[in-house]
Amino acid sequence: MNVYDSHRIASMLNNLGFEETKTAQKADLIILNTCHIREKAAEKVFSDLGRLKMIKDERAKEGLDTVIGVVGCVVQAEDEEVFRRVPFIDFATGPLTYYRLPEILRKVGEKRGEPIIDTEFPAESKFDFLPQNSSMGGSSFLAIQEGCDNFCTYCIVPYTRGVETSRPVNDIIEEARILVAEGSVEINLLGQNVNSYRGTDASGKERNLAYLLRKIAEIDGLDRIRYTTSYPADVDDDLIECHRDILKLMPYLHLPVQSGSDKILKAMNRRHTSGEYLDKITRLKEARSDLQFSSDFIVGFPGESDKDFEDTLGLVRKVEFCQAFSFKYSRRAGTPAAIMPNQVEEKVKKERLEILQKLLAEYQLRFNKESIGKIMPVLFDIKGRHKGELIGRTPYMQNVHAELGKEYCNKIVNVRVTGANVNSLAGVKEGK
Ligand code: SAH
Ligand code: SF4
Repeated sequence: MNVYDSHRIASMLNNLGFEETKTAQKADLIILNTCHIREKAAEKVFSDLGRLKMIKDERAKEGLDTVIGVVGCVVQAEDEEVFRRVPFIDFATGPLTYYRLPEILRKVGEKRGEPIIDTEFPAESKFDFLPQNSSMGGSSFLAIQEGCDNFCTYCIVPYTRGVETSRPVNDIIEEARILVAEGSVEINLLGQNVNSYRGTDASGKERNLAYLLRKIAEIDGLDRIRYTTSYPADVDDDLIECHRDILKLMPYLHLPVQSGSDKILKAMNRRHTSGEYLDKITRLKEARSDLQFSSDFIVGFPGESDKDFEDTLGLVRKVEFCQAFSFKYSRRAGTPAAIMPNQVEEKVKKERLEILQKLLAEYQLRFNKESIGKIMPVLFDIKGRHKGELIGRTPYMQNVHAELGKEYCNKIVNVRVTGANVNSLAGVKEGK
């Protein structure tokens, strides 16, 4: 979501006449888009700002002015506190109000010295005010939903991104058509809780994600559809049928489970048990047999015992995820779990994370190795580190490195997989 927001911010600045620079030293305006999900992400913002202050000071010696702004969830969560920690910044705005940047920048120009902050939860939708979204290349993000009403007890998102809101169906279809016309062959529909999407159609009727997927699949020239991130309890029959019926829907689903222990899931206020999660996985696999899953895990949630952690490992062994993201529980001020008793020691969290990541990597490597010798359609959209190398993704979201001319960038190419490690595949173009 932050990559998407940054893309929208960059387009807005382009419209105002700004150009992207290669280094911060050359920039008249520097904006950090921030994440507050875990302590590490939030603290990184302040160390990065310390470095930017040095650049601002050096530029000042040469008579150059530098405007520094902070956008995103750190601002929404910390509010005025941000200015206490980094008094040298010029403005700060939350993730829902960055569409007001043109006005904020005008105000900054008028009264330099006094920092401007905007952490309102606006009644209007930012999507009605942002300039038209533009393609990000072969694969584009398209936000359809924002915010979260789930209030998992560890999570800061409902407090920073606000309540769930869904964009109207027609706005989304129109945006998807434009992205495809501009060269995107893949669209990834985004939302904090994308499968609880409830947007209105032209007649005012409420529609779900399944309806939207079927409509978007009708767009000629669009080859691949993905959606991120889903909440397990909101995976309904209609959505499962989409995985059976829509071939453009890629056979990879990110479905965060967080824990395999029902006791911990309850304490997390997740609306699913591990059994219900496994049942959804089984039914999705029945709908599309080659569907692969990735997930998010939190280890060391307050009260997590060795047995609870074992249950998480057990669930991993059952599902055999092809990819996963796993984190140590991070205390977020203002969330219920932050003040729960039985906080788990850092040392135990670290040990559990290592064990879990080792197990996840085994399945990931096994899945990647099974790809060797197969021919897969790969969407290339990133230049590799080596000259003449492109990086792309298989339908199952595996990264593929291949030696390919840049004319293949943003295209889907058939590739024979020649090698595999935990994080990527190597391949060669098949045929002429
Ligand atoms: N809405 C999505 C994901 C949102 S945040 C969902 O519910 O699945 C992305 C991931 O960050 C979460 O899935 C969770 O695993 C992790 N996360 C959120 N809060 C966290 C915290 N306080 N400590 C550690 N990980 C956290
Ligand atoms: Fe956070 Fe839970 Fe909402 Fe995901 S569903 S954003 S983890 S509160």
